[in-house]
Amino acid sequence: MGITTSGQMIGRAFGPRVRLVLFFVFTWLGIALLLAFLLNEGRREAERKAPADALAVSSLLEARLAAAMRRLQGTLEHLAASLPKDSFNLAAVGSYRDAVVSELGLFSGQFPEVSGFRVIDSAGGLLYAFGRTQLPVAFSDLGAQPGKNGSSFYFSEVIVEKQSGRSFLFVIQPVSSAQGERLGFVVAQLDLDVLSRIFETINLGSQGVVAIWRADDGRLVLQRPAQPAQVNRALENNPLQRRVQSGEMQGTMRLPGMQDGVERVYAFQRISEYPLYVASGLAVVDYLAEWRKTAGVAAISALLLFLSLSLVLIRLLRAENEEALTARKLAESEARYRLLAENSHDVIWTLDIPSRRYTYVSASVTDMSGYLPEELVGQSIEARLTPESAARLARDIDQRLRRIAAGDKTAGVVVSELEQVCKDGDVISTEVVSSYLQDADGVAHTILGITRNVSERKAAELALRETNRQLHARIEEIGRLQTALQELAVRDSLTGMYNRRYLDETLEREVSRARREGNPLSLVMLDIDHFKRVNDTYGHQVGDEALRMLANTLLADIRTEDVACRYGGEEFLILLPNMPLETAMQRAEAWREAIEGLSVTLGNFPITFTISLGVAAYPEHGKTPDDLTRCVDQALYRAKHGGRNQICVFSA
Ligand code: GH3
Ligand code: MG
Ligand code: MG
Repeated sequence: MGITTSGQMIGRAFGPRVRLVLFFVFTWLGIALLLAFLLNEGRREAERKAPADALAVSSLLEARLAAAMRRLQGTLEHLAASLPKDSFNLAAVGSYRDAVVSELGLFSGQFPEVSGFRVIDSAGGLLYAFGRTQLPVAFSDLGAQPGKNGSSFYFSEVIVEKQSGRSFLFVIQPVSSAQGERLGFVVAQLDLDVLSRIFETINLGSQGVVAIWRADDGRLVLQRPAQPAQVNRALENNPLQRRVQSGEMQGTMRLPGMQDGVERVYAFQRISEYPLYVASGLAVVDYLAEWRKTAGVAAISALLLFLSLSLVLIRLLRAENEEALTARKLAESEARYRLLAENSHDVIWTLDIPSRRYTYVSASVTDMSGYLPEELVGQSIEARLTPESAARLARDIDQRLRRIAAGDKTAGVVVSELEQVCKDGDVISTEVVSSYLQDADGVAHTILGITRNVSERKAAELALRETNRQLHARIEEIGRLQTALQELAVRDSLTGMYNRRYLDETLEREVSRARREGNPLSLVMLDIDHFKRVNDTYGHQVGDEALRMLANTLLADIRTEDVACRYGGEEFLILLPNMPLETAMQRAEAWREAIEGLSVTLGNFPITFTISLGVAAYPEHGKTPDDLTRCVDQALYRAKHGGRNQICVFSA
């Protein structure tokens, strides 16, 4: 395999995999980027919204506080203006007390955040009081600089009541005479806990803070969550304070908490013209909490998506791997089979059953029939067969399909002999092995066939059959000849009688049988009288003729089981199985008479002759073939000596 081919194989195996991985990576990256973008947008939106929210809180509180202050200022100014100068005179206090205290009480009811009113003289002595007035007003407070902006209204430090831990702030309105003489002060005691409760109605999150600071020196007035230790203290390097002091009425900024280091977005808002400002801080962790939750869900979703995509990817890669492996194996096996099909002498083909047309024919068809494969693909299978073969094939296919449909497992493969018509018109004999390929439902759609040209084999078979037939004829002939030869071997050529060798065998057998079966057996021996004379007088040929006539006469008169043989030159022996002596004598006498009546014609001249006969029988005269032949010979000898032309029975 060349380098290029290996490269292509690697490309085929890895190209789609890399593409698949890239597709999944980009899909996930795209989704992750989209999520990141949306999350970033969400965060930016939350960051954008936080200062506005903080400012809204500050403004809301400012509005509440400013309104309360304004009303309180109005009240204190009203009191300061309406109190008679004389009422500050210590000696007159007793006469004014009821009127002033009831007036103070009247106003006190209008301010839930004010826990008490009092009037004190310029030296700090208490003149009139209503409500909670246990806390002393420090003189340093009273001596503090008067309110700015033309207002004489100002605030004390925060005072913490030791027993209850409650914080208060005195709002101090100086009272002066028309001449500008300081008469004393009207003081309202602000309960900071009541203000603090207003803060609590606002949700600032777990780490949010809200506070009131003094605008002039930056000291803390009130804070939630409460920080009692920080009250009345100014933070150093407070950026909010710097901005307030620079004259800004409101603003926002993000900074770490100066007390706790928590990162917050702060908004400050001056409380109208008063020397106070409200600051609210939303902790970054609070206002980003929702976003964090969303981000967490998004991250988990992205992770899950990544995991599930990875899982799908692994599955796909594995499936793709297996598919590639299967495809490679399939391609290899197809190449192998195609190689086999293309190089086979046999023609391999596939046939679409419904249309009965070839879908594939291997190249060897050209050698076999002269057609090119492309001439046959698409052609009907019957078109290239002789009409007889086509009809037989059509019947066979129908029958096979019926058997397959009926579930017959043996019907799928069949070997048939079909006569095909070649392109040049020649007819060849083919042996076709057809396999019916069935789908999973057992329905056959395709026949896979292998066709072999068996014309030569058929011709050879025919020749062999013919040779065989001829061989059989020869063998029969030889058999016949052999039988004849055997006959010749045991028969005498002149007379057609058995020869002496045959007689010896037969006599042996017949004597044994007679002994075994207890049957009689007779022998007759005969000799022509004075035959020498016949020969001498009429010639040898006449003698031969006489011998033939004698033989014919005897043969015509014996039973099938009798055996007549030429024993010597003109001597004959007739074996008569199963015949007693008496009957044999009668037979011998009959033959003597028959021969006496014979005549051999020589021209018009008839020649006659006689015979002498000896008779012997088993078991009377002998028990063995030798004994019996000897006996019959002696009987003949006696017949000759007795005068010839007679019969003699053996006698001892
Ligand atoms: P007998 O009455 O004593 O038997 O006298 P015979 O002349 O017949 O004497 P024998 O039996 O000895 O004679 C035999 C003769 O038979 C001799 C021979 O010429 C003749 N012979 C033997 N075989 C043949 C044969 O095949 N053809 C012919 N023509 N003559 C034969
Ligand atoms: Mg003789
Ligand atoms: Mg003789």
